[in-house]
Amino acid sequence: MEKTSKTISLSDAAARIREGGVVAFPTETVYGLGANALDAAAVAKIFELKGRPRTSPLIVHVSSIEMAKKYAAEWPPVADDLASRYWPGPLTVVVKKSPAIPDIVTAGLGTVGLRMPAHELALQLIELAGVPIAAPSANRFTHLSPTTARHVEQEFGDAVEILDGGPCQVGIESTVVSVTSGELELLRPGMISIDATETAAPSEGSHPSPGMHPRHYSPRTRLLLVETPRALPDRRGAYVWWKKAGLTTCSRRMPRDPAAYAARLYDVLHQLDQENWPWIAIESPPATPEWSAILDRLRRASS
Ligand code: AMP
Ligand code: MG
Repeated sequence: MEKTSKTISLSDAAARIREGGVVAFPTETVYGLGANALDAAAVAKIFELKGRPRTSPLIVHVSSIEMAKKYAAEWPPVADDLASRYWPGPLTVVVKKSPAIPDIVTAGLGTVGLRMPAHELALQLIELAGVPIAAPSANRFTHLSPTTARHVEQEFGDAVEILDGGPCQVGIESTVVSVTSGELELLRPGMISIDATETAAPSEGSHPSPGMHPRHYSPRTRLLLVETPRALPDRRGAYVWWKKAGLTTCSRRMPRDPAAYAARLYDVLHQLDQENWPWIAIESPPATPEWSAILDRLRRASS
């Protein structure tokens, strides 16, 4: 594991959270930029560091279902069912919020997104800090999410201390579902695929998820999503493929398995972005349910 100059210990990270500071920490999805979710001034520092608009709510990370219930005004049976099936894991459940959660965390909404991450260090950090941790991804607004401590350091330099837990195993952001209507509504696809139609048939776009900006998760380099290598602009860029290689100066082969693909995606994009290619092109993965979260991120990154 590569150590960065800004790495801190678990106990120091927990102390920072308790003192009202901000630390980057690992989860199984991406690295988060965390602060005490009960401390509005601490959470404000996250928005400042990221340059994130205050209209974009943060996910609150908890270390147990019991802790989640404490910060929910209502915890319907469907929330309990989801949490017991998928937690700890990459699923955020949006419920009505308790007054203990300050408005800045939820962008003024009456709801809060709660998640218990499947990463031992994240869970220990929450336990040691003794408070829920509000955290978006540890990158500047609209940039690529970080999946290693090094990505966080490249983004924030000396401004952020990092609890290094190695590379993230899932690699893309959590699935977000709302249960505030008592039924299930998918707000953001992720590697846990929830079939919202099982319990409800939400009308398309009826409750847009705040903060789902069309351009998001982007490298600096121009990013193209192509169906075939014949659509590449020329040979001078970097081609990221899984099925059919192209004749380009830089060629990166990706795994054919969606979980393995997701785990590598942001690291490959971070690396290529550092290499200053005239363009990065990605061979579009198949439009099947297992790939829907990956396709969602690729579309946002290339828009
Ligand atoms: P991230 O940008 O990865 O930190 O994820 C935060 C995302 O979770 C937001 O952009 C929303 O899509 C979703 N989210 C968090 N809290 C809420 C909420 N209270 N209501 C609806 N969506 C939420
Ligand atoms: Mg983010």
